[in-house]
Amino acid sequence: MTHPTRFRGQSLRTQISVVFAVLVIALAAAMSLGFGELLKLRVQRDASQALHTVADNASRQLAQGLFERSRVTQVLADAPGIWERGLDSAEVRQLLARSQAIDPHSLWIGVADAQGVVRAATKGLLEGESVRERPWFVAGLAQLHVGDVHPAKLLEKLLPPNASGEPYRFVDFAAPIRSGQTTVGVLGMHGSWEWTREVLESLAPIGIQGASVDLFVFDRTGKLIFSPPEYRSQLEAGNQRLPVPLTVATRESGTPPATVVAWADGKDYLTASVRMEARNAPSDLGWHIVARERVEVAFADADRAVRLALAIGLLAAVLAAALAWIAARRLSEDLYVLADAASRVESGKPGATIPLVTHNRDVHQLSSALSSMTERLIAAHEAMEDKVRLRTLELEAANRALDLQARTDALTGLLNRRGFDSRMEFALALARRSGRPLSLISVDVDHFKRVNDSFGHEAGDEVLRRMAQTLQQRLRASDVIARLGGEEFAVVLPDTDLAGARAIAQSIVESMAAQEDPLVGRITVSAGISSLRAQQDSVHEMLRRSDAALYEAKGQGRNRVCVEPETGPALK
Ligand code: GH3
Ligand code: MG
Ligand code: MG
Repeated sequence: MTHPTRFRGQSLRTQISVVFAVLVIALAAAMSLGFGELLKLRVQRDASQALHTVADNASRQLAQGLFERSRVTQVLADAPGIWERGLDSAEVRQLLARSQAIDPHSLWIGVADAQGVVRAATKGLLEGESVRERPWFVAGLAQLHVGDVHPAKLLEKLLPPNASGEPYRFVDFAAPIRSGQTTVGVLGMHGSWEWTREVLESLAPIGIQGASVDLFVFDRTGKLIFSPPEYRSQLEAGNQRLPVPLTVATRESGTPPATVVAWADGKDYLTASVRMEARNAPSDLGWHIVARERVEVAFADADRAVRLALAIGLLAAVLAAALAWIAARRLSEDLYVLADAASRVESGKPGATIPLVTHNRDVHQLSSALSSMTERLIAAHEAMEDKVRLRTLELEAANRALDLQARTDALTGLLNRRGFDSRMEFALALARRSGRPLSLISVDVDHFKRVNDSFGHEAGDEVLRRMAQTLQQRLRASDVIARLGGEEFAVVLPDTDLAGARAIAQSIVESMAAQEDPLVGRITVSAGISSLRAQQDSVHEMLRRSDAALYEAKGQGRNRVCVEPETGPALK
């Protein structure tokens, strides 16, 4: 597995695909291995069963052959009327010849008398010779006998050479010839061992698979008595014994019909062993018929099955991983869409919203939750901005009102000192730049204290309001009128020189003097005038000079206009 942090750094798509693919591959491998093993067991059992069947069939055929010969021997020995004319009569010879003709594998059929001298035999072989030492004769005197395979002794030189080029080997059959209660002789028959070879070769399956099956016969003691010729010398050199233990080989059921065994040639074979079941007691030679097949060949199908199961499993895993990749891609695509939309919303793109994705329920839920949350946030944000805009407008209006209030005299509605200062500075700067004249009139109500004292503060206020009205009526809109404090007023006259200002001041003084108030009577005012003189002239200087002129007017008796002393050249 990859390093955890490296894995964590991967995209969701990769993570899901990796996890899914590993899971599916592990599952497929486990399943196909298990399935393959099952299949292998099944195939192995079938192969074992097949091998066992081959051995079993061979065993039955051999048992049947032995039984039939023993029966033939018995029937011949018991044939009524034949032996009465002697053991070497023409009929006897005819019978022996006919019997051999019926079964060519009966290489020798002969009759020995009770003393063991051969009296008649096929092709006259061994006639007159003694067989009294031969085991078949000894056993045959008593009862029907079947003797285990053995090399030919007396007949080897008399018979034509064996077709296979090997020494003759016989299976002996013998039965007593009786006349009443007396045993008068023994009928003997030597069956060729070639017969066994033919039976087994005919049974060993031939074909693609069968070519590899070989059949063997072991005797009662476990000694190898028949082998296909190509293996014989090797197995005899290795002293091959019955490869499956006798106990297993003789047991009928409950054991696997074939097991894997190492043979004397050093190779492993699937081996099935069957104990030959004799059809009658004399033919029970205790043989074991063994079938073997090279393990690689026997289990080839099983290995193929495992490989096939693995291949199918892996193919399924690859397909599943591909499907996982596609599914993960679909899921992560939705997430990418959401992430993109979220960053558009974050960067404040107009109209950006979270789209609804519908590929799967969870992400759909996520997207709809995000979408409604975003819409609400955006709406709240816009409402907040509207409110802030409104508040800002209100604040600006309030500030403007405050500013106006700060610059306005509450009693008369004229500018106050602060308003006067800023307008005066502006007018002064304008005049300096344009080089045009600027004049300033200071006006003060005469003996105002007396008005207050005589008629009250309210009456005084009324006088001040009237004074303001008079100034406003007399002056232009471009002129600046202010109440500087108490009963003192100032008028700024742009584009007006000293003479013009004087005329205006005079008209104001006269206009006030001409009014007769019903309560306070006639109120007069005095005025002093200054004009912008030099570039460095200031508001303060001009006020100081107009105040000085006003003071002069008061000193000269009030109700008049005085002009500043012309100590410097006034600007035009
Ligand atoms: P003068 O002719 O020399 O100017 O004499 P005056 O009495 O006008 O001058 P003074 O400075 O002696 O008196 C000014 C008076 O103005 C004093 C004060 O009580 C009064 N006053 C100042 N401000 C107001 C105001 O807002 N309303 C009223 N009713 N009286 C005010
Ligand atoms: Mg006064
Ligand atoms: Mg005064």
